[in-house]
Amino acid sequence: MVQNKSLIFAEACPPAQYPVPGKHLKSVSNEIDLDQQLAQGAILVKTEVLSLDPYLRSRLRAPGTKSYVPEFELNKPIENFGVGEVLRTGEGASVSKGQLVYGSFPFSEYVVFDKDAVSKLRPFDNKEGLPLSTWVGSAGMPGQTAHVGLKDIAKPKKGETIFVSSASGAVGQMVIALCHRAGLKVIAAAGSDEKVEILKNKLGVEHAFNYKTTDIKEYLSKISYQIYWDNVAGPTLEAVLDTIEVRGRIVGCGAASEYNESSKGLTNVFRLVSKEILYEGFIVLNRDIGNFYDEIPAAIAKGEIKPIEHITKGLDNGEAFLELLKGGNIGKAVISLE
Ligand code: NDP
Repeated sequence: MVQNKSLIFAEACPPAQYPVPGKHLKSVSNEIDLDQQLAQGAILVKTEVLSLDPYLRSRLRAPGTKSYVPEFELNKPIENFGVGEVLRTGEGASVSKGQLVYGSFPFSEYVVFDKDAVSKLRPFDNKEGLPLSTWVGSAGMPGQTAHVGLKDIAKPKKGETIFVSSASGAVGQMVIALCHRAGLKVIAAAGSDEKVEILKNKLGVEHAFNYKTTDIKEYLSKISYQIYWDNVAGPTLEAVLDTIEVRGRIVGCGAASEYNESSKGLTNVFRLVSKEILYEGFIVLNRDIGNFYDEIPAAIAKGEIKPIEHITKGLDNGEAFLELLKGGNIGKAVISLE
């Protein structure tokens, strides 16, 4: 028997509030028998990395409100994308010992997946030799989000300029990398001077500003741009409606400004009409990711895309998740149990 630490959903967090570590999310430890008899098709996995993503906040709600993702089950580990290594397999399992698997993981150090759950995992061999954290970041769901939103909605053309909010985060940095590869110029916004420095010096954007200390509308009015990648909504989106070019395209990816605080609404919605702006939202899990796995992991391995990651070691009481919601992450937020 060994101890198996988990991060559980302990109490629903009311809307327009930040979750409190140790209250809404709590770390617990139970014993697990690593030599247990596994059912047919089941596998025992050691979790290596777990992804922290802003959308998890909406799953910390009380039952009863419909959304595109269900609320978490109380007193059970929260779940999200992860990577683990198969330690043991039951008879007839479709994956073998030592193999890596990617998919939806409970936040526990060790996990038994039954046959049905195993069928939903993606086995892979990491032939590209990427850090495992990258498989839940630029080579995982956030990378797919950037890839799909650009391919299906923005349809960027060489020579255009795109504005990206929450630009140093998991999705934002991939939007920047893919747009630079496609020959676009990038305007980037983030919430600290340190992030702005990284955007300029590591991600090579043409323009970057701190949205907390800059007049967003005034800044954007000086540069012409055709596409806006919206990760945050709120005052940034309002400034975009005033400043984006006529027939601009807006990719509705997220609304980080509204996840823990009440929305103040938009005062200039008519700009969508008068400027003939296209706004299209999307949920990556409902989209075809196309050639993502053929193209992106190899580009990262060759150094053509250089992911920036914010790694927290070990399971805590939800502090790392709160840090992400408050903007303390520089790059993709990942929990490493390696
Ligand atoms: P990030 O790594 O960008 O982290 C979230 C960031 O949100 C924080 O670092 C913080 O950065 C920013 N933020 C927090 N509060 C505010 C605020 N009030 N106003 C503006 N920015 C704020 O997260 P991801 O890259 O994982 O996700 C980016 C967005 O994409 C999120 O909205 C997420 O929900 C969405 N998303 C959508 C998907 C889809 O299928 N549509 C799939 C995946 C993600 P800062 O310091 O700059 O404030």
